Amino acid sequence: MQAVIKVTPSQLDEIAATYPANRKLPNGAVFASKITGVTITGYKSGKVLFQGPLAEKEAGRWGTNSTPHSPKKVASDLPANFAHLAVLGSDEVGTGAYFGPLTTAAVFVPADQVDELIKLGVKDSKKLTDPKILELAKAIEQRCPYHVLDLAPHDYNRLINQYNQAQLKALCHNFVLLKVLDKIAPTKPDSILIDQFVQAKTYFNYLKGQDRILKDQVYFKEKGESYHVAVAAASIIARAYSLATMNRLSDEAGMTLPIGAGSTVDQVAIKLVKAGKDLDHFAKLHFANTKKVKRALK
Ligand code: MG
Repeated sequence: MQAVIKVTPSQLDEIAATYPANRKLPNGAVFASKITGVTITGYKSGKVLFQGPLAEKEAGRWGTNSTPHSPKKVASDLPANFAHLAVLGSDEVGTGAYFGPLTTAAVFVPADQVDELIKLGVKDSKKLTDPKILELAKAIEQRCPYHVLDLAPHDYNRLINQYNQAQLKALCHNFVLLKVLDKIAPTKPDSILIDQFVQAKTYFNYLKGQDRILKDQVYFKEKGESYHVAVAAASIIARAYSLATMNRLSDEAGMTLPIGAGSTVDQVAIKLVKAGKDLDHFAKLHFANTKKVKRALK
């Protein structure tokens, strides 16, 4: 059971003064308390969260705007109140596209930024237009620590000789997540959520032999953005960087490089080669498209 109320700064002070300060402060919190049947956490943003069997009753003391929050999916294997915790999330784009980079991003969303980002319209980047993605990426970058690994096709092609694609993705996620952890230290996220692309066991198998492997509090969910806005934020940042790189590559190619891996992509690749360009600079060469292009050019 949980309830959330939104209060003014003076009400927040009043509520904080009412309860014993007997719990460790989560990120973004100004007070945290546990009394019989309910834990109470007040955030800088004016949000007060009540959790426990008596949550509704206790929240009711402070006003009528108590609303149980359920816009987000919940899962029994995630910590309670997951959608409102301080979460470091990661996602990648470009794995299904012949042209362009593999771009992986991690974003740390402090608890007091969760509602902010949702209000701004941060959601799955696939549901957003390109201009909106660029606008939201800026807003996220101003509010949240993040890191991006934008792997250009040439570098991707070198690495894909060594690793399979899922393994390369695992390495990229581990890398950007650690970068953000280092940036925010000594602050620690409550949890880490990776937009799932393989089973957890496989993910960690792929990372064997790495110097540093992020393992503590790591969770995996398909459609991770429906469990925490941090994954949506990561997908938006990744998409924004990927778009910028695609624009640069299109300029260098002298033609617009299409997304995906269909027959339009083959036609453009054929044109590129005929124009004397090196596909290694523009495309992920292990895709079946490369063979089709070579066959067509024979
Ligand atoms: Mg994903």
